[in-house]
Amino acid sequence: MPTEEKQKSQQISGFEPYVETKGEEYMGDPMRKHFTKILNKWKQDLMHEVDRTVDHMKDEAANFPDPADRASQEEEFALELRARDRERKLIKKIDKTLQLIEDEEYGWCESCGIEIGLRRLEARPTADLCIDCKTLAEIKEKQVGK
Ligand SMILES: [Zn+2]
Repeated sequence: MPTEEKQKSQQISGFEPYVETKGEEYMGDPMRKHFTKILNKWKQDLMHEVDRTVDHMKDEAANFPDPADRASQEEEFALELRARDRERKLIKKIDKTLQLIEDEEYGWCESCGIEIGLRRLEARPTADLCIDCKTLAEIKEKQVGK
């Protein structure tokens, strides 16, 4: 599978950016519905992707009698499985996020409590930190990693 296709599955497709009405309440009903829709669609795409890989692997597993072919095929499968693993984790995160929306706790930074903001959430609907806290967390992470 081309890398590009793999990356595409990590992104969200097919939604209209939310247009706020004047003075609209942040994360009121319409906004929450908007993000619920995005997240559900994203989740469906991911689950579809997972299913497709499993089918694909079942089909191919039987077709390589040559051990060399089998070895490279197993490598390919291992890569695919890792990608699927990431997707499964993402699906879990999406479920968690959907729950947050339901609890009306979605859209605020987990660390400092400010609004994460519509545009950032549309780019990354599972974001639970504002851009500042996220940047800070990444810097800290890098320092620990060194
Ligand atoms: Zn923050």
